Amino acid sequence: MTTSTLGTALITGASTGLGAVYADRLARRGYDLILVARDAGRMEALSATLSAETGRSIEVLPADLTDRADVAKVEDRLASDAAITLLVNNAGMSLNGGLLDSEVSQVEKLIALNITAPTLLAAAAGKAFAARKSGGIINIASVLALLPEMFDGVYSGSKAYLLNLSKSLAKQLEPQGVRVQAVLPGATRTEIWARSGKDVDSFPVDWVMEADHLVDASLLGFDRGETITIPPLADEGQWDAYEAARLAMDGKLSNREVAPRYREAIKEAVAA
Ligand code: NAP
Repeated sequence: MTTSTLGTALITGASTGLGAVYADRLARRGYDLILVARDAGRMEALSATLSAETGRSIEVLPADLTDRADVAKVEDRLASDAAITLLVNNAGMSLNGGLLDSEVSQVEKLIALNITAPTLLAAAAGKAFAARKSGGIINIASVLALLPEMFDGVYSGSKAYLLNLSKSLAKQLEPQGVRVQAVLPGATRTEIWARSGKDVDSFPVDWVMEADHLVDASLLGFDRGETITIPPLADEGQWDAYEAARLAMDGKLSNREVAPRYREAIKEAVAA
């Protein structure tokens, strides 16, 4: 086994689903890996297969990313291991129901896993990579970031958070030589559906992407320097138009005066 010239990719949620496909693809590209999730047995099995097939060095780092002490262990590793060049913030969960019919403990767990952990890991990686003037951070968000009406707002909100965080981090870190990408998958065939009591096969077959297709397209987007990658969206002009409409409000969203549509009514109410 030789030390990788690409360095080491640390992937969260690497025991199955999209994370396991990222592990496969990045090892085949020549990255050494650090696999993070709770199920050490599954990660050991993946590590054995991938290291035999690729010759890469693959370490298993078990962690429950809803546990602050475990997150700190991964943050420390990102801060101290100069071989790490890529963070894939992929671990995530969905709720069995929505905010109004889920256990509060499950809602808190989702926020810890989908928001707090990737934020702290991105901060640790971002600081280390900026100091070395190279590296990359891939955050797995979701198309539901754009469609809060379609799904539970806690999950879609957590993904909208990651989308915002990624855009902001990209702006701060890219001048320092660090790439940041947010990936927005649509429905993709993984265990996340069964884990949250849903049947992915109940969706129209044309809606559901295979995990390997999703990851291959996402890595191509990363190679192309995309900040936002939406593998299922056929017409990227729609995303560009959405962004253009949003950014057209820039410079108009902070104002000493309230908008005229309120101002007149307020004047009338005060005069009455
Ligand atoms: P998945 O098959 O359920 O895999 C989730 C991964 O996260 C597993 O490796 C799991 O491993 C890990 N994980 C779960 N809870 C954890 C915890 N407390 N601490 C550490 N690791 C934990 O889901 P997936 O579909 O591959 O999801 C990957 C990402 O894609 C998620 O962020 C998800 O929100 C996003 N996404 C998925 C879809 C989709 O349709 N599949 C669509 C849009 C976005 P352990 O159980 O071993 O811990």
